[in-house]
Amino acid sequence: MPTLEIITIGTELLLGEITDTNSTYIARTLRDHGIDIFRIITIGDNPARIASTIRESLTRADIVITTGGLGPTVDDPTRLAVAKATDRELIFDPKLWEDILNHFTYYGRQPTENNRRQAFIPEGAIEVHNPVGTAPCFIVEVGNSCVISLPGVPREMEFILHESIIPYLSQKYVLKNQIIKATVLHAASIGESVIDEIIDDLEQMSNPTVGLLAHPGQVDIRVTAKAESLDEAKRLSDPIIQELRVRLGENIYGQDEETLALVISQISNQHDIKLGVLEYGLDGKFTERLKLGQPDQLHASILNEKPENITDFEKTFDDFKKDVACDVWLGIAININEDKTAHLYCQNSRQKISKTRKYGGPKEYIPLWAQNIGLDFLRRQLITSIKNDEIGER
Ligand code: ATP
Repeated sequence: MPTLEIITIGTELLLGEITDTNSTYIARTLRDHGIDIFRIITIGDNPARIASTIRESLTRADIVITTGGLGPTVDDPTRLAVAKATDRELIFDPKLWEDILNHFTYYGRQPTENNRRQAFIPEGAIEVHNPVGTAPCFIVEVGNSCVISLPGVPREMEFILHESIIPYLSQKYVLKNQIIKATVLHAASIGESVIDEIIDDLEQMSNPTVGLLAHPGQVDIRVTAKAESLDEAKRLSDPIIQELRVRLGENIYGQDEETLALVISQISNQHDIKLGVLEYGLDGKFTERLKLGQPDQLHASILNEKPENITDFEKTFDDFKKDVACDVWLGIAININEDKTAHLYCQNSRQKISKTRKYGGPKEYIPLWAQNIGLDFLRRQLITSIKNDEIGER
């Protein structure tokens, strides 16, 4: 499988004035042809630094693609950098010059002396026709490797990539159609580092890869398989997904599009469970999230007045349960003492379970964190209540 490094060139990229979309586009397009992407590098308009980066990339990768820095101005440095990196002179290419002249004629414009600079390319380079702009593109072959220089303007780069570069690469290397299939398992109320310890060995694999992404109160475990067909990708990832489910058990609440709210509604609807929810401190967002799953029977109440303390909230929750006929009640309150703490209560026909959790992350994430751990607490209590037959008359 050929390997690739992408170098996007431009000081404006480096300073964050524009966002690099070229490398994402090239990476996505070429990975589907079975090309392994090793690195994406952004570098300013400095020929010496670009040259040394290209030279370094050539020691690791078969294909080096640069974008940008091909314009007619002095600070468009790619031509010079590629020539330096591959130990060649820059020479005038009459065919490229003709291309540039034709482009100007077509748009009824006159080229300037500067534009002539664009017709200089490294000696022995293969010219790549650019019918959509004036930036001259070229390929320099170095042994079995190559440096491909494409324009910075995304529309031009994309056109030439499909029109000329993929056909060139298909002739030079054996390319394969490649499917990338990602499956995401969602876990809640368990920390990223705890998961990491449980599945450490699986995270070392190369195909499929297993990676973690932490959100407030929730962790995604992404399983990504590369294969020539979807069936093959599934054959590779299914046993790993199964293994993750075994190891993480009830910590996993869903896969891909499944949300906590959806899972809670599926359980409560299937078992005809009427849910009662009392929330404080979340501006009704907990109930809003829960409703997204479309539970058939939900009685929700939002407490606006701040409880004096947590005992006061618990008492309000106990009164709420008396007033509202449900099968399972959940109470959730955050920040009663401005202390990044969530208090959770869940009552079924037999017992009341309570839990206090403290958040260690930034203040602005507390509401999302609390919603996630609150929903997951409810999901777990529903599962336990059903298992222990604790649903029904109290
Ligand atoms: P031109 O002849 O048009 O100057 P060029 O190949 O020299 O072409 P640059 O001057 O480097 O390209 O970039 C032209 C424009 O293309 C930039 O101003 C920017 O808007 C866009 N561009 C350049 N590189 C990128 C990139 N990596 N991602 C997204 N846009 C880019």
